[in-house]
Amino acid sequence: MQSQAHRFKPRAVEALHNETLQQALAKAKGGFIDKRAAAIQEIPDFESLRQRGETIKEHTLAHLDVYLEQFEAQLLRQGGQVHWAEDARDATRVIADICREADAKRILKAKTMAGEEVGLNEALEEAGFEIVETDLGEYIIQLAHEPPSHIIAPAVHKTREEITRLFDRVHHGLEEVRLREVPDLVDEARQVLREKFLSAEVGISGANLLVAETGSVTVVTNEGNADLSMTQPRVHIVIAGIEKLVPTLEDAGTLLRLLGRSATGQAMTAYTSLVTGDRREEDPDGPVEYHVVLLDNGRSRMLAGKYRDMLRCIRCGACMNHCPVYGSIGGHAYGWVYPGPMGAVLTPQFVGLDEAYDLPHACTLNGRCKSVCPVRIPLPDMLRSLRDDQFEARITPARTRWALKLWGWVARRPRLYHLGARLASRLLANLGRGSIQHLPGAGGWTRGRDFPLPQGETFQQAWKRQKEHRGER
Ligand code: SF4
Repeated sequence: MQSQAHRFKPRAVEALHNETLQQALAKAKGGFIDKRAAAIQEIPDFESLRQRGETIKEHTLAHLDVYLEQFEAQLLRQGGQVHWAEDARDATRVIADICREADAKRILKAKTMAGEEVGLNEALEEAGFEIVETDLGEYIIQLAHEPPSHIIAPAVHKTREEITRLFDRVHHGLEEVRLREVPDLVDEARQVLREKFLSAEVGISGANLLVAETGSVTVVTNEGNADLSMTQPRVHIVIAGIEKLVPTLEDAGTLLRLLGRSATGQAMTAYTSLVTGDRREEDPDGPVEYHVVLLDNGRSRMLAGKYRDMLRCIRCGACMNHCPVYGSIGGHAYGWVYPGPMGAVLTPQFVGLDEAYDLPHACTLNGRCKSVCPVRIPLPDMLRSLRDDQFEARITPARTRWALKLWGWVARRPRLYHLGARLASRLLANLGRGSIQHLPGAGGWTRGRDFPLPQGETFQQAWKRQKEHRGER
């Protein structure tokens, strides 16, 4: 997928003025949050589960070379084939070659973020294959020619009216909308996809986890579409980032418990499949050829750098569900595969600090993402660190650099800082009544909302006054 991260600001403004999108976001808001909160309440030891999840991922990353080799050896023993892809071009070339060898025309695809990352659909379509997305959300956005806007709910930005219109146009050639209920729309998509499931030669899926001790791949969905993509076609291809590894099946169990609860508030996702190699003689179904493409695409570099913690991510989406910025503008504004707080850290790693300049700044640093992350990734710390990197690399605009330098200089001189803060708050208090509509230098704020008027004293003064009032020293 071609990055549009450099257009974050205009896209965010567009999103804020898009009434349909705002309706869809308002509807989605809260659902994920409430369900996660309820699911966590059900288990008293959720914090220790998080701790275990973090430890498993940390341990795996520290010995990633060992576990990758173990996974490869086990998978080969089970009759599978392993391909190592250094970058997006490698991954798409390998997959297109396998599809050609299989003499494929139609390819079924279950949702895969790694596939999005390498632009798999575009590459395979260019090579002449028909791609059919089988996850309902992915199917909807494929019909709409849009990228996903959420990692677990790709079409969360679409209203029921929009989906109905889309189905009526594509499935029935109608321009007039015949509004239907959600179950009817789901049923309609199922009817269309059923025929495609039966006629595809190749299936492609992602992986939620790769298990080193058995060479198994774990895939979770709520629709069972990945299982059908894995069992119906003759050839199956899995594409997965190398960080998806865990050492044992028991580790996989721990992470799956964290994933379901954090993502959709389920104790376990409805369909949780463990696939180990190709079809055996006694198996009633399954692929006769089974390939796993292990994608690096910059992950080894991350492993050796200061954003290594980000490789713990299990793609649950909880950080974006709890992020007020994501909740206001949706995922498309972020301009690349990964939106929200995790995307604001990941995207600069993949497309560059410069291209993704605005993303680390699209954050209020309220810390909710960190507090809900099941593997305790310190997202706000990394966003601050990315801002530092941009400053050091002189990507930050000159005016901002000078302002930050001046701020830093003053902040290191407490007397001067307090004097300046006192003067500024007195000055601002006399600028209007209740609020300020136009504040030079803070146009980004006052264009969209009023700036609340300070009351003429600094926080420190108010703190001191209140302490004195309570008789404290
Ligand atoms: S960063 Fe944490 S909360 Fe966000 S998607 Fe990854 S695991 Fe989930």
